[in-house]
Amino acid sequence: MSDALKQTVQEAFNEPACATNRAKSAADRKKGCAKPLTPGAAAGGCAFDGAMITLQPIVDVAHLVHAPLACGGNSWDNRGSASSGSMLYKTGFTTDLTELDIVMGHGEKKLYRAIREIVEKHAPPAVFVYSTCVTAMIGDDIAAVCKAATEAFGTPAIPVDVPGFAGSKNLGCKLGGEMMFRHVIGTQEPERTTDYDINIMGDYNLCGELWQVKPLLDRLGIRILGSLSADARYKQVAQMHRARVSMLVCSHALQGLARKMQEKYGIPYFEGSFYGISDTSEALRTMCRMLVERGAGADLIDCCEALIEEEEAKVRAELETYRPRVQGKRVLLYTGGHKSWSVVSALQEMGVEVVGTSVRKATDNDKARVIEVMGTEAHMYENMAPKDMYATLKASGADILMSGARSQFVGLKARVPWIDVNQEKHEAYAGYMGMVDLVRAIDRSANNPVWDDVRRPAPWDEDRPFAGHRPRIKDRCPVSGLANDPTDFED
Ligand code: SF4
Repeated sequence: MSDALKQTVQEAFNEPACATNRAKSAADRKKGCAKPLTPGAAAGGCAFDGAMITLQPIVDVAHLVHAPLACGGNSWDNRGSASSGSMLYKTGFTTDLTELDIVMGHGEKKLYRAIREIVEKHAPPAVFVYSTCVTAMIGDDIAAVCKAATEAFGTPAIPVDVPGFAGSKNLGCKLGGEMMFRHVIGTQEPERTTDYDINIMGDYNLCGELWQVKPLLDRLGIRILGSLSADARYKQVAQMHRARVSMLVCSHALQGLARKMQEKYGIPYFEGSFYGISDTSEALRTMCRMLVERGAGADLIDCCEALIEEEEAKVRAELETYRPRVQGKRVLLYTGGHKSWSVVSALQEMGVEVVGTSVRKATDNDKARVIEVMGTEAHMYENMAPKDMYATLKASGADILMSGARSQFVGLKARVPWIDVNQEKHEAYAGYMGMVDLVRAIDRSANNPVWDDVRRPAPWDEDRPFAGHRPRIKDRCPVSGLANDPTDFED
């Protein structure tokens, strides 16, 4: 790892705004946030993958992976971030380095030519160049190539120097944000600014979740000036420094960026979530209060309260129609972070019993909220091995498992329906209406008649009465007079 990258990684680990990090000793802080890998367990994505997760939803940018084919190919489009405009982000660009390129030292030249080709063919507002393990190890200087290409072609080429070996996916997300802070944020000025401009960070518009929230902001006159990176355009990142308030959506990975934005540009931030009714209301309230503190009209708070009252009443009325169908259902929730409690409280409101929730990636505050809403810490789990999850599903009599895709087969093996609530999901659950969609998904899955069949013993395991003519066993052979074998049947 180059000295510059080492320094960047160390800075990312030493985040003063993170309570968990503050509580660590200096030695522990140096080790970073990643947990040691468990032999035999899946490792999750690399740092390059994390940077792609954070930045790829910037939809009008060309994302160019400087690597052999597999890095870009295997991670291409594995998240469902949605775009309301340009679809350029869905095109997988890679320099596709071969062994010959590596041996002959052609990497940098190939990268330069690839940037030129992209600019000529697609005319994007910027090209993001991602380094990867191979190109970092052979020492390709992507920063120098990007600088030369920017000068030659007049389109910003932004180096995202986050090779996979730098660390975990989470670290990659942090560093992706850091690259934007260094190279993009503050490079463009908006045509106009208002006191109602906000940044949203850490939301990726998965399955269009942002679009379930944006109409609420529109009604309050709040404008999303900057976005990292839900349905974002390059200029929305470049102009983030002019927002009045930033909202950090359940993302510790971008906390460092939010803190730096506060320190450098004086933009205060808050952490909020759009999962669950009460969380959505709380996020809107906090956003409006902070905007008023920064110059927005005081009537924004009354407008916000009126909107919350109206939307909550509407969504609760709609949820009531599902209550008889989901009430009493038992859910095992295996997700993480703030969702460990925000989804719990939302489900409990519907009379759904949460038999357990995981607190992976949850902060101390998140854990305290879990205890508050569940009344006990007995059903909080850190990491759960598949066999433990299977045992918990069976022992608790769970009707449904809500988790990420990796756990779906445990649910199927336990003959319990599964709902995807992680980033690979195909249905949006954000905002008020997202809650209705989530409860509808529970109803659809838990009450699906297929489960009656799936849970019924297999035909060959059943004790069934003989359906045809049952022959009489002759007790004795009429000829020999000896006792017959019981398996000896008469026609
Ligand atoms: S960057 Fe490295 S760890 Fe990540 S996919 Fe490429 S080779 Fe694998």
